[in-house]
Amino acid sequence: MAASEAVPYAKTGGLADVVGALAIELTKSGNHVTLLMPDYRGQATVESRQLVMRLSIPVDGKLAAVTVEEDNVPVTGALHRLRVLFVRYDPYFDRPGLYQHDHHDYPDNLERFILFCRAVLEIVRDLIETREEKVDILHLHDWQTALCAVYLKTLPHEYKVLERTTVLLTLHNMGYQGIFPGRQFMRMGLPPSLFSPSGIEFYGSINCLKGGIIFSDAVSTVSPTYAKEIMTAEHGCGLEGVLASRTDGIKGITNGIDIAAWNPESDPYLSAHYTAADLSGKGACKRALQREFGLPNHSVPLLAVIGRLTFQKGFDLLIEVIPELMSLDTQIVVLGTGDHHLEQQFIAIKAKYPNRIGLCLGFDEGMAHRIEAGSDMLIMPSRYEPCGLSQLYSLRYGTVPIVRRTGGLADTIVPFRPSTVKSRSATGFHFIDTSTDSLLSVLLLSLHVYKDRQTWQSLIYTGMKTDLSWDRSAKLYVEFYRELGRGGRES
Ligand code: ADP
Repeated sequence: MAASEAVPYAKTGGLADVVGALAIELTKSGNHVTLLMPDYRGQATVESRQLVMRLSIPVDGKLAAVTVEEDNVPVTGALHRLRVLFVRYDPYFDRPGLYQHDHHDYPDNLERFILFCRAVLEIVRDLIETREEKVDILHLHDWQTALCAVYLKTLPHEYKVLERTTVLLTLHNMGYQGIFPGRQFMRMGLPPSLFSPSGIEFYGSINCLKGGIIFSDAVSTVSPTYAKEIMTAEHGCGLEGVLASRTDGIKGITNGIDIAAWNPESDPYLSAHYTAADLSGKGACKRALQREFGLPNHSVPLLAVIGRLTFQKGFDLLIEVIPELMSLDTQIVVLGTGDHHLEQQFIAIKAKYPNRIGLCLGFDEGMAHRIEAGSDMLIMPSRYEPCGLSQLYSLRYGTVPIVRRTGGLADTIVPFRPSTVKSRSATGFHFIDTSTDSLLSVLLLSLHVYKDRQTWQSLIYTGMKTDLSWDRSAKLYVEFYRELGRGGRES
């Protein structure tokens, strides 16, 4: 499994949660998993790491001296350990951010991930040739690793030994494709014919994700609804045609969550604990959260926002309806970081309602846990959402999600309706249109239902009892790997 981020080592978003948890869960169920990732700043402190390889990786006409360090991580309940291989090249990865600094992408991101992808292939080659290991599946995640498939398929003479390895690319977000100026193509060391519409060229630019979609043996994404949505112009982000041209289709497997790390019964970030049967600790978490954000300890509905502040997440819609929400008895806490103008808008709105809105512009894992525990509702007005994790954490923490009906949000939250209330299957609220009117209507509906304690408790209870574990999702991945293994590689 190759990825640019994975918990507990490096994280900017859900990708890291998914990769880290999937690797652990697959190991637990008896699979031999090796996780390959860049060695970013601050990760080199693990004592048990050992230098296991030295590689010379061609990038931009030079040879980069890369080292590979190995760590073997014990996994509770597993017969063997999870092997993690860190690709170390300090000029590229010993930096303050993973992909950017001060809101600016690093200008050499293409070279950085060419180097990583080529290192991944060299490592896999070494595992097969030198250690005589069998590598059945090379599972890639997102644009940062998509070029592995491109190099593997377009330079087959170099990677003959990987002939029996099936390449699966998982798309975690079509909004991030790794697009770079066409003039940089020369740096990639690929056959010139590849810079064409049937290759990695995309309107005159290089598109790494496109290359991955074309050259991988199989492609999957992180929910069945998103798998369908990305075939459309609205959500395919320009690659809907490329996706549709794959005759084998796009598999959708909904993410799970790490139910040990996200457990309201034992979460070390919380000052009180609780279960679905006894929610008294949740009340204590709410009061603690209000204190943490300097909000008065009133028993009003506490609404939460956690996530990257980007256009995708639709928080601009929320900002517009906040004045109306403030005319009701509510409090809001916001944890996020991202687009400068959205951050500024949240700062302005917080200044207007200092005793009603709590704001933290930054990345704070512990605070994310405390917000999930201490809030009554979580708002996710996403324009699109491949899977979404925050709403899953909310279910587990008895916080009712209010989501736009898209992608994984549609697949994971059972909407409040007379029929679902009756069958006790409702876990949250859906709204459909990307409009402030729709968002406001559903917020008003949820605030109304909140007052009906019995119905609200039922929403909480059903959410907390939902099986969100990786166990279920990892089984689907294993089935899919097996299917791919049987079918062999389509060349
Ligand atoms: P995405 O991957 O698009 O960012 P997801 O909902 O799939 O969105 O995953 C987001 C993950 O990142 C969740 O684990 C969420 O708790 C976490 N997260 C997002 N922003 C922050 C933040 N500012 N501080 C702490 N955790 C955050």
